[in-house]
Amino acid sequence: VAGVLAALEECLQEVGSAALKRIGVGFGGPVDYARGVILTSHHVSQWDGYPLRQELAARFGAAVRLDNDANVGALGEARYGAGRGHANLVYVNAGTGIGAGLVLGGRIYRGANGLAGELGHVTVDDGPEARPCACGKRGCLEAYASGRAIGGPEVTRRAKAGDEGAQGRLRDAVRALARALGAATNLLNPSAIVVGGGVAEAGELLLGPLRTALARELMPDMPAPAVVPAALGYDAGVIGALALASED
Ligand SMILES: [Zn+2]
Repeated sequence: VAGVLAALEECLQEVGSAALKRIGVGFGGPVDYARGVILTSHHVSQWDGYPLRQELAARFGAAVRLDNDANVGALGEARYGAGRGHANLVYVNAGTGIGAGLVLGGRIYRGANGLAGELGHVTVDDGPEARPCACGKRGCLEAYASGRAIGGPEVTRRAKAGDEGAQGRLRDAVRALARALGAATNLLNPSAIVVGGGVAEAGELLLGPLRTALARELMPDMPAPAVVPAALGYDAGVIGALALASED
């Protein structure tokens, strides 16, 4: 933690921090936005409960906004990426795990505790064979459609080359994504679903079947949202943090 803060200070000395007014941070784990505190880091335990907003504000004398990386990514895509022009969108980042962020009415929707958007832990299979999830539940979307569940980028390459086993894994992922995103669409009526993360690199191989499967999950009167690949890639977090910092 101290190392990260020192590195930040060094960076700012290089570019000059005199004009620094606002700081936006996208953190890779759940964040209490209202209090500006990191709830848990799944990677570095020293971040657990860390009051990062207060610490950064004290060190740099700037207004600080702190949110989780999925929310920040959603805002980045909504403002500057594939979600431009959509005031209501669902952003899904299917990488090692599955993160999601909701932009509703042009703003990040955080819910009562800052935990809205946990799409990865929506139950998509409640049968006896439901796969266990890292969160402790069974049958979560993340256990079917994350990079870890699918088997990484190698599977996309094999599926493109015609490997039936790999294509089967992508089909399972598509079915699970359609379930969870169908529920989200029936609930929220977004006009776009932006799909990013390593899994999205499968491109139309994933998105084409996902549009078809999603349509079957929607109630008849529900317009199908545009299902589009994320445009900002790994920069979504940085660009989104900038957008977060500049919000009113
Ligand atoms: Zn789970």
